[in-house]
Amino acid sequence: MEPTFRHIDTKAVHAGEPEPRWSGAVAMPIFQTAMFETRVDGDADYHDLRYIRLNNTPNHVVLGKKLAALENAEAALVASSGMAAITTALLTVLKTGDHLLIQDCTYGGTHSFVTHEFARYGMSYDVIDGADPESWKAKLKPTTRAIYVEAIANPVMSVSDLAAAVDFAREHGLVSMIDNTFTSPVNFRPAEWGFDLSLHSCTKYMNGHNDIVAGAVIGRAELVERIRQNLNHLGGSLDPHACYLLHRGMKTLALRVRHQNVSALAIARFLEEHRAVAAVNYPGLIANPHHERAAEFFDGFGGMLSFDLQGGAAAADRMFQRIKLPVIAPSLGGVDSLMTIPARTSHRLLTPDERARIGISDGLVRMSVGIEATDDLIEDLRSALED
Ligand SMILES: *Cc1c(COP(=O)(O)O)cnc(C)c1O
Repeated sequence: MEPTFRHIDTKAVHAGEPEPRWSGAVAMPIFQTAMFETRVDGDADYHDLRYIRLNNTPNHVVLGKKLAALENAEAALVASSGMAAITTALLTVLKTGDHLLIQDCTYGGTHSFVTHEFARYGMSYDVIDGADPESWKAKLKPTTRAIYVEAIANPVMSVSDLAAAVDFAREHGLVSMIDNTFTSPVNFRPAEWGFDLSLHSCTKYMNGHNDIVAGAVIGRAELVERIRQNLNHLGGSLDPHACYLLHRGMKTLALRVRHQNVSALAIARFLEEHRAVAAVNYPGLIANPHHERAAEFFDGFGGMLSFDLQGGAAAADRMFQRIKLPVIAPSLGGVDSLMTIPARTSHRLLTPDERARIGISDGLVRMSVGIEATDDLIEDLRSALED
């Protein structure tokens, strides 16, 4: 029997590790081999042949077990990117003729896939206001098969009514799907709330070092297995070396995310008080409209925040010229703090009107708080915002 561990810190280090260890190796070795010898019996199923694309080398298997343990879910798999995980999951849960309910303001790649590609598969969707469950029923169709939400939505850090999404899915026989990238299993474990599928860009907090692209699907075993078989066909497999880096990064997940929770809250409070700042979006702030829901669902408010400066886009550009620690770059969730202007990066594909509707001004700055000392980041922001 697999040993069980009570705390996520211990799971991050020990869950899923091979027993016994390969040749006694303390760190999981990299199995840099495309294929493995076929067992002599010869009647193995196609999906059981061991091959990197079939996501079943020792590196993939160990990661799957660790990921499932982190979210107290039945099963998990890794994929070559967050988008490989998301698109493969959607294309497995839905087929031609099916309809999806998806919250407004999803990750740019997800939004673009659903709005631009769905029609080509004969699938349809409706956008729902994640914070207003009363309005969802009006969008339900006989062909609706799934509801899709994000734990914390980029870049205004909105929090949908996650418990209502699970209840709604159960009541209407839908698959409940959540993108849990921004919260990570440290702050939110979807399976504990009844979600069927949790999706991750492991490029972000899971790996946490800004050095690989990877994805994960975590959830009910029967669904994860169907997604795995589809992933085997679509080909989004993670290379063993990237598996190794993800595995190594995940060992410090709990330490990193807890530091980022504390640091981001302190930075959000600092910005909230600063006269050059017009508004701060962070669900940990009491004044934030999503605070109550976030406090109900999450163990921490995460490392992501965004803010508008009084001087708009010009003031943001000026701050970017002066700031020293955060790197001006897209993406998030790693040890290095990053800053970006979503209107120019993640939400560039939206029209200006679409951006305005979801609260993204041209000068909105998003910050991914890394693991630098909080005081150093605050001092850096203070001097970059000086008159
Ligand atoms: C980055 C991101 C993705 C896409 O992940 P990739 O690893 O870049 O493919 C999906 N969802 C969210 C919330 C993200 O931040």
